[in-house]
Amino acid sequence: MTAGNMESAELFDAGNKGRGLRATKNLKAGEVVFAEASFSAVVFDSFASQVCHNCFRRQANLHRCAQCKFAHYCDRTCQTACWDEHKQECGAIRKRINAPSESVRLAARVLWRIHKDTSIVSDTQLVAVDQLEDHVSDLPEEDLKKMKKDVQIFQEYWSYGRKKHTAEEISHIFGIIKCNGFTLSDQRGLQAVGVGLFPNLCLVNHNCWPNCTVILNNGNQSAVSSALHSKRRIELRALEKIPEGQELTVGYVDFLNLSADRQKKLKEHFYFECSCEHCSKHIKDDLMMAAADSKPSADKVKEVTAFSKDCLEKIERARVDMDYHEVMKLCRECLEKQKDVLAGTNLYKLRVLSVASEVLSFQQQFSEAAGYARKMVEGYMKLYHHNNALLGMAIMRAGVTHWHAGQIEEGHGLICKAYGILLVTHGPNHAITRDLESMRTQTEMELKMFRESKDAYHSMRDAALKIPAVEEKVKGV
Ligand SMILES: [Zn+2]
Ligand SMILES: [Zn+2]
Ligand SMILES: [Zn+2]
Repeated sequence: MTAGNMESAELFDAGNKGRGLRATKNLKAGEVVFAEASFSAVVFDSFASQVCHNCFRRQANLHRCAQCKFAHYCDRTCQTACWDEHKQECGAIRKRINAPSESVRLAARVLWRIHKDTSIVSDTQLVAVDQLEDHVSDLPEEDLKKMKKDVQIFQEYWSYGRKKHTAEEISHIFGIIKCNGFTLSDQRGLQAVGVGLFPNLCLVNHNCWPNCTVILNNGNQSAVSSALHSKRRIELRALEKIPEGQELTVGYVDFLNLSADRQKKLKEHFYFECSCEHCSKHIKDDLMMAAADSKPSADKVKEVTAFSKDCLEKIERARVDMDYHEVMKLCRECLEKQKDVLAGTNLYKLRVLSVASEVLSFQQQFSEAAGYARKMVEGYMKLYHHNNALLGMAIMRAGVTHWHAGQIEEGHGLICKAYGILLVTHGPNHAITRDLESMRTQTEMELKMFRESKDAYHSMRDAALKIPAVEEKVKGV
């Protein structure tokens, strides 16, 4: 499908939510509803020299733009493909000596593009960029102050012939970016590396239990000629069967929060009250706060919940300080307290399990990490939509952890499960899905070997991973 194809969706009046998009035909799970190239996008300041400014892939040894020394690219092909977007910016950065912040750079890119191509750049774009919501009037004092500063910086930075913009016009663009900007991740989906504006995507309303997901496809970079080099684009993908006429929705916030907390976040960042079914009926709130099956007293649950809340704050502080020994000490202590008091779906338990498995995997203590990861995904599976992208990624990480821990049966099972989800949420051609596919093949082969001969499997594994048999040595002491 070509980017911009809008045959499966149309604009409609979604009542008190304003504009929305709905399906114009029956859609299947995993179907691309539409794909769309960014109107404009920028790499975050902190990744400016680590991520290609064209395809948003993170890689070593990027080439630097010889003129501004700010923009970085994979190669000439990416640089050539991006020149149209970078040309004005390159001059402005050179004039200013250094580059302004990401929000100023993005606002300028948006306005340069509007001047060059107008605010509608393709015949499938449903709404002009400057007609998007800006919510400037809803901004709190603090944010308005910051925006005023950015507007000033913008005015010094911006140049386009003699064309000048009023502070009001520029604030409007900043407001649009603030409430419609879509965060872009690197090709492995591990890190948020930039932000972009996708006009049709902006029309898709939020639902805490959405029927679609949006994923950045960093494009096909294998083509040598920039003309054949497919551009980065987002894809809106159906998570389940969607009947013709149904509204298309995505989740702006992670479902793994109590309904009141999701509503609060949505109000703060997107300025609306969520009245979706899951919020108004508080669906799954009970599971997220549940006590263990052994029916501990209400007081005990209250006590452990308060302890967990406090402990999670301490864990976060220790993590910021990169004191991983302390992080693990706190996690183990907290999990011990939670045992037989909080249920496996309780958010406080899941948050501790998530940190513990991540830190231990990082420290290559895979066996213990696998145990925590396993409990975590079991809880996630009871809470998330079965095709949620975050669920798929969590199961993938759990699978890899089990594999590294030598638990090949569980590892392969989880990797297969993650692959099934990512085929829907990311599609077969995404870099992460391809990684998963090769892991699936690899673990399948190892599993076969394991079933034929456990000894052969373990000696193969030790040789391949070059892991000294630490546990054996410890036992021997
Ligand atoms: Zn690139
Ligand atoms: Zn440059
Ligand atoms: Zn909601």
